[in-house]
Amino acid sequence: MAGYDYDLFVIGAGSGGTRAARVSAAHGARVAVAEEYRVGGTCVIRGCVPKKLLVYGAHFAEDLKDAQRFGWRVPSAPEFDWKCLQENVLAEVDRINGAYTSTLESHSVEIIPERAVVTGPNSVKLAGGREVTAERILIAVGARPAVPECKGSEHGITSNEVFHLDAIPRRVLIAGAGYIANEFAGIFHQFGAHVTLINRSDVILRSYDAQIRDRLLQISMMKGIDFRFHAEFAGIEKQADGSLKVSMTNHDPVEVDCVMFATGRVPNTEGLGLESAGIELDAKGAVPVDEDSQSSCPSIYAVGDVTNRVQLTPVAIREGQAFADTVFGGKPTRVDYDCIPAAVFSHPPIAGVGMTESEAKQKLGNVRVYTSDFRAMKNVLANRNERCLYKMICEAETDRVVGLHMIGPDAPEILQAAAIAVKARLTKADFDATVALHPSMAEELVLMR
Ligand code: FAD
Repeated sequence: MAGYDYDLFVIGAGSGGTRAARVSAAHGARVAVAEEYRVGGTCVIRGCVPKKLLVYGAHFAEDLKDAQRFGWRVPSAPEFDWKCLQENVLAEVDRINGAYTSTLESHSVEIIPERAVVTGPNSVKLAGGREVTAERILIAVGARPAVPECKGSEHGITSNEVFHLDAIPRRVLIAGAGYIANEFAGIFHQFGAHVTLINRSDVILRSYDAQIRDRLLQISMMKGIDFRFHAEFAGIEKQADGSLKVSMTNHDPVEVDCVMFATGRVPNTEGLGLESAGIELDAKGAVPVDEDSQSSCPSIYAVGDVTNRVQLTPVAIREGQAFADTVFGGKPTRVDYDCIPAAVFSHPPIAGVGMTESEAKQKLGNVRVYTSDFRAMKNVLANRNERCLYKMICEAETDRVVGLHMIGPDAPEILQAAAIAVKARLTKADFDATVALHPSMAEELVLMR
């Protein structure tokens, strides 16, 4: 071990890499982490955190409208100052970036602000030319937005650039139908842009429960978001006035001021040199690993989005923690991927855990489905015609709750607590035995018949 420069060299200081580096160092390892952009990674710098802050900012558009029904006198056309929100959000990102950096430093992790590539099972080359050795290497390089190949695609932006726009465009076209596409459709719409969302198929949010995602589609359309399905990009043409003319299959061209690609994310493995350690990537460019996040090269591990298991921050963090505890902490730990809750911070938001109705029917055969379709008290007084939908999927034989899916205000906040019950394999009877907390939306969870 003494022959290596480090016990652990981590490539990428995002959610997974930072946790792995910090905990390994706390277990006594000599650790360095290379980061080519900013410590904190996608989640902190250009993902979950700034996105959620924009979602909060966007929601005020509806809150200010609704406030009038609650007696507040608000100017009939309240003004929104994008630059003010942007500056505050980016300052918060800087603050968290600083906090992550000092946490690593206080654990004696050496931060190397450079790109690193693998040159062998125990060696890494830094962009500045220095080559270092490590007993173990952790690949935690995350993923990046995929941009479809089409004429004029260079005129589009991705989630990497969206937080740095000079102004909110008047007309936006978003390509994709996953959570990032739907979240930004809501954000731009609330900020006053006309939003067109185009997708190759006619299904949005494929992995979510069909009834729940249909409800979001219906509400989004009612709000004025324009959906175009079975539309594949043909090209983007920049016009003399700076606007972008987007052509697509099956629909007329659309003229917009901004095109945003939210068409999936690809592992950041291009040019990473993994072949020098004999590692073969999978068809999507991800690093194949076993249950201990170990690759086919015994000294090289990988965690987070680069492994394309579940691309969520809490999962990357758990994988980083499990790696550190197993390899340097003498406490073998594996991540349990069962019942991972997930959310879409759309307007209104969606959250779900466990099997969808169709998954449960396929896997278990006989299931019971309970639903509650209601208008939240606050929406009733506000004259806001948006209905919540909660769904509970139970295994008929055992009464066990195998899935919980919801759309409505605060759904992610409510679901996190309910996910504990689903993970703990509680039954419908356990939910029913719990007294309702009244008046709340969450009480519907224990009142489903
Ligand atoms: P990352 O956090 O991406 O970190 C990888 C780091 O490696 C980056 O900092 C990168 O610069 C660096 N790097 C890459 N290559 C090299 C190299 N060769 N040398 C040095 N450094 C390198 N997840 C949620 O759970 N909830 C959400 O609400 C959510 N919202 C999101 C919204 C958006 C817009 C996006 C894009 C993502 C969102 N995610 C969300 C996903 C989440 O951000 C990722 O799952 C998470 O960041 C993955 O962590 P990671 O450690 O694998 O990689």
